[in-house]
Amino acid sequence: MGKSRTTDDTRIFDLPIHRSSRWIFNCYVIEGDAGESVIIDPGLASTAEGALRHLRSVGRGVDQLHSICTHGHVDHLNGMPILRDSAGARSYLPARCERYLKGESPRTFGHKVAMRFFPMVAQQPFALSTLGELARADGSIGFGGSSHEFQFPYAPDGFVGEGGSLPGASRWKVLEVPGHSDDSICFYDSVTCTLISGDAVLTHNGRAWFNPEIVDSKASAETEERLRALDVRHLLPGHGLPISGRVWDDAMSFRERPKARGLVARCLRRISG
Ligand SMILES: [Zn+2]
Repeated sequence: MGKSRTTDDTRIFDLPIHRSSRWIFNCYVIEGDAGESVIIDPGLASTAEGALRHLRSVGRGVDQLHSICTHGHVDHLNGMPILRDSAGARSYLPARCERYLKGESPRTFGHKVAMRFFPMVAQQPFALSTLGELARADGSIGFGGSSHEFQFPYAPDGFVGEGGSLPGASRWKVLEVPGHSDDSICFYDSVTCTLISGDAVLTHNGRAWFNPEIVDSKASAETEERLRALDVRHLLPGHGLPISGRVWDDAMSFRERPKARGLVARCLRRISG
């Protein structure tokens, strides 16, 4: 430990990226190509609205706005219709979601596997309202939670997959990183060595943690090996605080299970309403 640092700031390190988060649910806003902006993982109504407020506060128009999720779990795309309806944002999904929309059932993990990520939930201020926001998602969008089929309420504007670029921020490349889910993707900027990892990699106490919540251990091992070979100096996870530095040096494998002692007490001490 000690080689990486974390931030609670909404602007991340010195990057042109803003974080709009509630509890452990991270949504990122990238200032992209000329006048364009990209909102990644608008998982909650409140994070989507926070992202729009940020863009307006920095004088960035929302007329060239794109939104995309790193995978189809409900907590990563639930706010996407708000961005479309209130700001005309174009909506993009990972390539695999196209198959889900044609009837393929996404693989999901049970509660026992879902519990594995619990040790990291106390590092961001706990907001009870986020649970209400997710409960109201009612299975009409995404998958996971109560829904085992992928739902999306309108035709998306496109799908992105391996080797593609992020719509609206062409410097960012798309990597397919299955394991946590079959549709998981990451976004990588080789200029700043920044990885927006979605749920392929979480962070826990200032360390990267390859997500132990998985549907496929072989794919998870391959994803971990592939990402560890990538030069990453800023890691912006789907859940947990962003970290920078030599992020892989003390990274935990997806097979590791850190202790979760005193978790409820720590959550309650950091309650934010
Ligand atoms: Zn997920």
